[in-house]
Amino acid sequence: MLMDFSCIEALLDLPEFRVINHVIRPQQLDIHLARREHTIVCPRCATCCSRVKESRTRGIRDLPMLERPVMLWLHLRRFACQACPHRPWETSETFGERVKWTERLYTQVRTAFLRGCPCKELARRYGLSARTVLRWTFERSRGGRPRKLSRVIGLDEYARRKGHRSNTLSVDVEQGQPIATLKGRRTEDVIAWCNSRPQDERDQVAVVVLDRSKTYFAAIQEVFGDRVHVIDRFHVVKQAVDALDEVLRSVQKQLGQDDAKALKKLRKRWLKSADQRNVDELIARDEWRRRFPQRRETLDWVQDVRKWFDRKDDKPAREALLKLIERAGQSAQEPLQRRAGTLTRWFNPIVRYIRNRYTNGMTEGFNNKIKLIQRMAYGLRHEHNRRKRILAWCGAP
Ligand SMILES: [Zn+2]
Repeated sequence: MLMDFSCIEALLDLPEFRVINHVIRPQQLDIHLARREHTIVCPRCATCCSRVKESRTRGIRDLPMLERPVMLWLHLRRFACQACPHRPWETSETFGERVKWTERLYTQVRTAFLRGCPCKELARRYGLSARTVLRWTFERSRGGRPRKLSRVIGLDEYARRKGHRSNTLSVDVEQGQPIATLKGRRTEDVIAWCNSRPQDERDQVAVVVLDRSKTYFAAIQEVFGDRVHVIDRFHVVKQAVDALDEVLRSVQKQLGQDDAKALKKLRKRWLKSADQRNVDELIARDEWRRRFPQRRETLDWVQDVRKWFDRKDDKPAREALLKLIERAGQSAQEPLQRRAGTLTRWFNPIVRYIRNRYTNGMTEGFNNKIKLIQRMAYGLRHEHNRRKRILAWCGAP
């Protein structure tokens, strides 16, 4: 069976090269490529060279075609310059000097492995050795050893198995990489782990981003003192929105079925900021505001809490937050009063967000990935294996 060259070129999607030959063997498909350009510019004297002196081939692994592993053979030429004695080699823009496989192959093999495809099967399908598949999969795992503590770290917990005990994940928020994962989530566990890190690493930690977990808070307080923790914005806003929902539910109970439905529909729109709404929605909102003053109060408060996080200056923000707490405390709504208590307890860590605008978003993202990793493996029993996988798979390459 022979394939049209232009067809292969379209499949390969490598515009720099044209196909000059291909050989279909039972175990492998060889595709021979040459650069489209027939000339190069001499790097010494800038003359256009077209006389080919010699050429060599270079093999690069690529994604399978026709259910066979593919080897791309690049025929790179050496030219003879007419104007000077230089004999320049042509170089490829697509592939670097020492590249032995395409990036798409690398990504696909790793993804397939994470999805649970056995190593041997992958090696057969992609024409690699099993060793290579394992190396690609785990080469970013550092053998499960933790990375260095960084200036900004985030802490979060994840479940080892659904409904079972939890582990702690610590993340380098600025680099976007997990630092380590440790067994347990109690205060003692975190303190012990932090103290096991070298002193100079601990000293450079300036910010720790937390959700509102009391155990982590206590641990960080113990190890790093009072100055470093920041509460993630998302968790504060979520609390405020929860308060709104509680009030909404109590209002809904007093309503007929249709009205209750309409109210539920409108909830999402209310939570958008004012400039995103169109006129009809504004009118509808004002009607509801007139009918239910208690709802209005809560909604305005929630919106103000969200707006508060956009503040830039430390001191005014501090005062504004005090005012927000006071407003909530004086409210007749019971859910709001409770939020006033929470905000007072976490006052300083919340205010610190204004200066250190870090969120736990990345940590939460890794959490999802960890769930996926564990599910793909049908549960991981060995802590070391879990650590390796998490370090290998989470974060930027
Ligand atoms: Zn030259």
